[in-house]
Amino acid sequence: MLHNYHTHTPRCGHASGTGTEYVRAAIDAGFSLLGFSDHAPYRDHPRDYISIRMSPELLPDYAAEFFELKARFGEQIELHLGVEAEFYPSYFEGLLSELRAAGVEYLILGQHFLDDGLTGLYSGRATGDPAMLDRYVGQCLDALSTGYFTYFAHPDLLYFTGSDEEYARQMRRLCRGAKDLGVPLELNLLGLREGRNYPDPRFWRIAAEEGCPAVIGWDAHQPEALNVPEAFSRARAALDALGVERLESVPLRPI
Ligand SMILES: [Zn+2]
Ligand SMILES: [Zn+2]
Repeated sequence: MLHNYHTHTPRCGHASGTGTEYVRAAIDAGFSLLGFSDHAPYRDHPRDYISIRMSPELLPDYAAEFFELKARFGEQIELHLGVEAEFYPSYFEGLLSELRAAGVEYLILGQHFLDDGLTGLYSGRATGDPAMLDRYVGQCLDALSTGYFTYFAHPDLLYFTGSDEEYARQMRRLCRGAKDLGVPLELNLLGLREGRNYPDPRFWRIAAEEGCPAVIGWDAHQPEALNVPEAFSRARAALDALGVERLESVPLRPI
């Protein structure tokens, strides 16, 4: 039976499908656990993220739909309510209290933007700048150190085109930190399917050397994206070939 903790909804502005369609697709594709993790709202954040994350006004609706789905489908599939969040230090406590009040159970870290997210510099944009890599790694480690993140989504999101030695040095620091903090790393099926810069084979060789456990994440933005057995097999084979331990389920860290 499959488990997926990384599922979006249209509230983020770049996904499609109803909650019911996601749950039905998960049941049909053989999942025994589905976690929703839409892009977290950050209230009072000055940047306009209309097509990137849900707006805070939609959080109650997100939670209400989830609890309704749980009541309807809870006998057929284990459902959980989470969000995928950047760690924006100045706004993080506010986010946590809002999520707690809404009944959100867990967080996964997706550090798409750096610092407090005010510059809009996307982590997945190609860069040869070692300072950017250093900032990404440092900020992700700060995020994981909070103890609130259940797992680390696409840890290899940062698209570094500089020297391989520098990449290896920093990503080893990231892998060691995640391992020490007990946070599993996600191998991202969306990136794999779309041929993005992640999963990055350089990263996963280091993760294997450092003994980091992995979780496969579907990162579904459409219900159909849960039914991709070929991509799942490829991801599983890649982890096996590297000798990376694959976790089927992950204990949710309370927020
Ligand atoms: Zn997304
Ligand atoms: Zn995602």
